[in-house]
Amino acid sequence: MAAPSHPNGRKGNLFIVSAPSGAGKTTLCSAVLNHFGDIRYSISHTTRPPRGSEQNGVEYHFTTRAAFIADIDAGMWAEWAEVHGNYYGTSARVLDQTLGDGQDILLDIDVQGAFQIVERYPDAVTIFIMPPDFEALRSRMENRGTDSPEVIARRLENARGEIARKDRYRHIIVNDMLKTAVAEMIAVMARYRQR
Ligand code: 5GP
Repeated sequence: MAAPSHPNGRKGNLFIVSAPSGAGKTTLCSAVLNHFGDIRYSISHTTRPPRGSEQNGVEYHFTTRAAFIADIDAGMWAEWAEVHGNYYGTSARVLDQTLGDGQDILLDIDVQGAFQIVERYPDAVTIFIMPPDFEALRSRMENRGTDSPEVIARRLENARGEIARKDRYRHIIVNDMLKTAVAEMIAVMARYRQR
Protein backbone atom coordinates (compact mmCIF):
# COMPACT_ATOMS: atom_id res chain seq x y z
CA MET A 1 0.00 0.00 0.00
CA ALA A 2 1.30 3.47 -0.86
CA ALA A 3 2.35 5.60 2.10
CA PRO A 4 -0.21 8.30 2.86
CA SER A 5 0.88 11.77 1.89
CA HIS A 6 0.68 14.19 4.80
CA PRO A 7 1.24 17.73 3.54
CA ASN A 8 3.01 19.69 6.29
CA GLY A 9 3.62 16.33 7.95
CA ARG A 10 0.24 16.10 9.60
CA LYS A 11 -2.91 14.09 9.32
CA GLY A 12 -6.20 15.91 8.85
CA ASN A 13 -8.37 16.92 11.79
CA LEU A 14 -11.53 14.89 12.21
CA PHE A 15 -14.38 17.01 13.56
CA ILE A 16 -17.61 15.34 14.65
CA VAL A 17 -20.73 17.41 15.14
CA SER A 18 -23.84 15.91 16.73
CA ALA A 19 -27.12 17.48 17.77
CA PRO A 20 -30.73 16.51 18.16
CA SER A 21 -32.79 17.29 15.03
CA GLY A 22 -34.02 20.85 15.16
CA ALA A 23 -31.00 22.21 17.07
CA GLY A 24 -29.95 24.14 13.97
CA LYS A 25 -26.94 21.95 13.24
CA THR A 26 -27.18 22.07 9.43
CA THR A 27 -27.26 25.89 9.32
CA LEU A 28 -24.45 26.10 11.84
CA CYS A 29 -22.24 23.59 9.99
CA SER A 30 -22.82 25.36 6.65
CA ALA A 31 -21.77 28.69 8.13
CA VAL A 32 -18.66 27.20 9.70
CA LEU A 33 -17.66 25.30 6.54
CA ASN A 34 -18.18 28.46 4.53
CA HIS A 35 -15.98 30.40 6.89
CA PHE A 36 -13.03 28.01 6.63
CA GLY A 37 -13.52 27.08 2.98
CA ASP A 38 -11.05 24.17 3.11
CA ILE A 39 -12.71 21.66 5.43
CA ARG A 40 -14.36 18.77 3.65
CA TYR A 41 -17.91 17.77 4.58
CA SER A 42 -18.38 14.02 4.88
CA ILE A 43 -21.35 12.94 2.77
CA SER A 44 -23.02 10.07 4.62
CA HIS A 45 -24.86 7.14 3.12
CA THR A 46 -28.46 6.66 4.22
CA THR A 47 -31.48 4.49 3.57
CA ARG A 48 -33.82 7.39 4.37
CA PRO A 49 -35.65 8.81 1.34
CA PRO A 50 -34.55 12.26 0.09
CA ARG A 51 -36.33 15.20 1.76
CA GLY A 52 -37.43 18.34 -0.10
CA SER A 53 -34.77 19.39 -2.59
CA GLU A 54 -32.08 16.96 -1.39
CA GLN A 55 -29.99 15.43 -4.15
CA ASN A 56 -28.12 12.16 -4.30
CA GLY A 57 -24.42 12.76 -3.73
CA VAL A 58 -24.94 16.27 -2.32
CA GLU A 59 -26.58 16.04 1.12
CA TYR A 60 -26.37 12.24 1.23
CA HIS A 61 -25.65 9.19 -0.86
CA PHE A 62 -29.11 7.59 -0.88
CA THR A 63 -29.07 3.82 -0.87
CA THR A 64 -31.28 0.79 -0.20
CA ARG A 65 -31.46 -1.21 3.01
CA ALA A 66 -30.18 -4.31 1.20
CA ALA A 67 -27.13 -2.50 -0.18
CA PHE A 68 -26.44 -0.84 3.16
CA ILE A 69 -26.58 -4.14 5.05
CA ALA A 70 -24.31 -5.82 2.49
CA ASP A 71 -21.81 -3.00 3.11
CA ILE A 72 -21.97 -3.59 6.88
CA ASP A 73 -20.99 -7.20 6.25
CA ALA A 74 -18.21 -6.05 3.91
CA GLY A 75 -16.76 -3.76 6.62
CA MET A 76 -17.31 -0.64 4.51
CA TRP A 77 -18.40 1.65 7.34
CA ALA A 78 -16.11 3.55 9.70
CA GLU A 79 -19.30 3.85 11.73
CA TRP A 80 -22.93 3.19 11.13
CA ALA A 81 -26.15 3.46 13.11
CA GLU A 82 -29.88 3.15 12.87
CA VAL A 83 -31.38 6.59 13.51
CA HIS A 84 -35.12 7.31 13.49
CA GLY A 85 -35.71 3.95 11.76
CA ASN A 86 -33.20 4.45 8.91
CA TYR A 87 -29.58 3.40 8.49
CA TYR A 88 -26.80 5.98 8.22
CA GLY A 89 -23.10 5.32 7.69
CA THR A 90 -19.72 6.90 6.96
CA SER A 91 -17.40 5.30 4.40
CA ALA A 92 -14.18 4.10 6.06
CA ARG A 93 -12.26 4.36 2.79
CA VAL A 94 -13.20 8.00 2.17
CA LEU A 95 -12.47 8.95 5.76
CA ASP A 96 -9.05 7.27 5.91
CA GLN A 97 -8.06 8.66 2.55
CA THR A 98 -9.11 12.21 3.46
CA LEU A 99 -7.29 12.21 6.79
CA GLY A 100 -4.26 10.52 5.25
CA ASP A 101 -4.07 13.32 2.69
CA GLY A 102 -3.82 15.83 5.53
CA GLN A 103 -7.29 17.14 4.73
CA ASP A 104 -9.60 18.22 7.59
CA ILE A 105 -13.08 16.74 7.52
CA LEU A 106 -16.34 17.36 9.35
CA LEU A 107 -18.79 14.57 10.11
CA ASP A 108 -22.40 15.41 10.96
CA ILE A 109 -23.42 12.17 12.66
CA ASP A 110 -25.52 10.99 15.57
CA VAL A 111 -24.35 10.12 19.08
CA GLN A 112 -24.03 6.36 18.42
CA GLY A 113 -21.85 7.01 15.38
CA ALA A 114 -19.77 9.62 17.23
CA PHE A 115 -18.82 7.11 19.92
CA GLN A 116 -17.81 4.54 17.29
CA ILE A 117 -15.59 7.10 15.56
CA VAL A 118 -13.91 8.06 18.83
CA GLU A 119 -13.07 4.37 19.43
CA ARG A 120 -11.50 4.15 16.01
CA TYR A 121 -9.96 7.65 15.86
CA PRO A 122 -9.24 8.73 19.47
CA ASP A 123 -8.05 12.19 18.33
CA ALA A 124 -11.44 13.04 16.83
CA VAL A 125 -12.76 16.38 18.05
CA THR A 126 -16.34 15.95 19.24
CA ILE A 127 -18.74 18.90 19.33
CA PHE A 128 -22.33 18.69 20.59
CA ILE A 129 -24.84 21.36 19.59
CA MET A 130 -27.53 22.01 22.19
CA PRO A 131 -30.85 23.70 21.48
CA PRO A 132 -31.58 26.55 23.91
CA ASP A 133 -34.54 24.54 25.22
CA PHE A 134 -36.73 21.61 24.32
CA GLU A 135 -39.60 23.68 22.94
CA ALA A 136 -37.23 25.30 20.45
CA LEU A 137 -36.60 21.85 19.00
CA ARG A 138 -40.27 21.15 18.49
CA SER A 139 -41.00 24.51 16.86
CA ARG A 140 -37.95 24.34 14.56
CA MET A 141 -38.98 20.90 13.37
CA GLU A 142 -42.58 21.98 12.83
CA ASN A 143 -41.57 25.16 11.02
CA ARG A 144 -39.30 23.19 8.71
CA GLY A 145 -42.49 21.55 7.45
CA THR A 146 -40.72 18.57 5.93
CA ASP A 147 -41.60 15.86 8.47
CA SER A 148 -44.91 14.28 9.51
CA PRO A 149 -46.15 14.61 13.13
CA GLU A 150 -45.18 10.95 13.74
CA VAL A 151 -41.64 11.56 12.50
CA ILE A 152 -41.37 14.70 14.62
CA ALA A 153 -42.57 12.79 17.70
CA ARG A 154 -39.95 10.10 17.12
CA ARG A 155 -37.20 12.66 16.62
CA LEU A 156 -38.14 14.50 19.83
CA GLU A 157 -38.01 11.24 21.76
CA ASN A 158 -34.61 10.52 20.28
CA ALA A 159 -33.45 14.05 21.16
CA ARG A 160 -33.91 13.36 24.89
CA GLY A 161 -31.63 10.32 24.64
CA GLU A 162 -28.99 12.25 22.68
CA ILE A 163 -28.96 15.21 25.05
CA ALA A 164 -28.50 12.79 27.96
CA ARG A 165 -25.15 11.74 26.45
CA LYS A 166 -23.81 15.21 25.61
CA ASP A 167 -21.23 15.20 28.42
CA ARG A 168 -19.13 12.64 26.58
CA TYR A 169 -18.36 15.28 23.93
CA ARG A 170 -15.26 17.45 24.21
CA HIS A 171 -17.16 20.66 23.39
CA ILE A 172 -20.78 21.69 23.93
CA ILE A 173 -22.17 24.71 22.07
CA VAL A 174 -25.62 26.12 22.82
CA ASN A 175 -27.27 27.35 19.64
CA ASP A 176 -29.41 30.16 21.01
CA MET A 177 -28.18 33.04 18.84
CA LEU A 178 -26.90 31.59 15.55
CA LYS A 179 -24.20 34.26 15.15
CA THR A 180 -22.74 33.59 18.58
CA ALA A 181 -22.86 29.82 18.13
CA VAL A 182 -21.10 30.08 14.74
CA ALA A 183 -18.35 32.24 16.25
CA GLU A 184 -17.91 29.80 19.13
CA MET A 185 -17.67 26.81 16.84
CA ILE A 186 -15.17 28.57 14.57
CA ALA A 187 -13.02 29.43 17.60
CA VAL A 188 -13.05 25.82 18.85
CA MET A 189 -12.12 24.39 15.46
CA ALA A 190 -9.48 27.02 14.72
CA ARG A 191 -7.59 25.99 17.87
CA TYR A 192 -7.19 22.42 16.61
CA ARG A 193 -6.31 23.55 13.11
CA GLN A 194 -3.41 25.67 14.37
CA ARG A 195 -1.71 22.68 16.03
P1 5GP B 1 -31.42 13.62 8.92
O1 5GP B 1 -32.18 12.43 8.44
O2 5GP B 1 -32.27 14.60 9.66
O3 5GP B 1 -30.58 14.25 7.84
O4 5GP B 1 -30.36 13.07 9.99
C1 5GP B 1 -30.80 12.37 11.10
C2 5GP B 1 -29.66 12.08 12.03
O5 5GP B 1 -28.74 11.18 11.43
C3 5GP B 1 -28.85 13.32 12.41
O6 5GP B 1 -28.63 13.27 13.82
C4 5GP B 1 -27.55 13.13 11.69
O7 5GP B 1 -26.47 13.71 12.38
C5 5GP B 1 -27.45 11.63 11.68
N1 5GP B 1 -26.54 11.15 10.64
C6 5GP B 1 -26.35 11.63 9.40
N2 5GP B 1 -25.41 10.93 8.76
C7 5GP B 1 -24.97 9.99 9.63
C8 5GP B 1 -23.97 8.97 9.56
O8 5GP B 1 -23.28 8.78 8.57
N3 5GP B 1 -23.82 8.20 10.65
C9 5GP B 1 -24.54 8.36 11.79
N4 5GP B 1 -24.29 7.56 12.82
N5 5GP B 1 -25.48 9.32 11.90
C10 5GP B 1 -25.69 10.12 10.83
